[in-house]
Amino acid sequence: MTQPAIYRQLADAARAAAEKAYAPYSNYFVGSAVLTASGQVFTGCNVESKVLGGTICAERTALVKAVSEGHRDIQAVAVHCRNNEGWPCGVCRQFIMEFGPEIVVIVESEGGNLICRTISELLPEMPVGAAV
Ligand code: ZN
Repeated sequence: MTQPAIYRQLADAARAAAEKAYAPYSNYFVGSAVLTASGQVFTGCNVESKVLGGTICAERTALVKAVSEGHRDIQAVAVHCRNNEGWPCGVCRQFIMEFGPEIVVIVESEGGNLICRTISELLPEMPVGAAV
């Protein structure tokens, strides 16, 4: 898969967003950056709650920001986990799939290379959402 230059910018934005994470319980700092078809970037971080069901992951924070601002045509989602190579959890994979099977998920390896997979590769045999 070719890697447009914007993917590196998204990965950098996700890394910066991870510094804003509110993670007093897990100490797991995650950031995300979402690219829309219009070229806008929305970032998000994980926000934890003492009531675990209230916790939201960085990817969903960024996607909720994009969708709530009227952007449903999502092109790519970068994820960065401080100190780890972090991939979206199952809930986030399903949430990303809601907006299209070809959305590219970008994760930076510990060596600094970008690993890119479509959400269909990360969540095979799943129906896409109504938003597509
Ligand atoms: Zn998640």
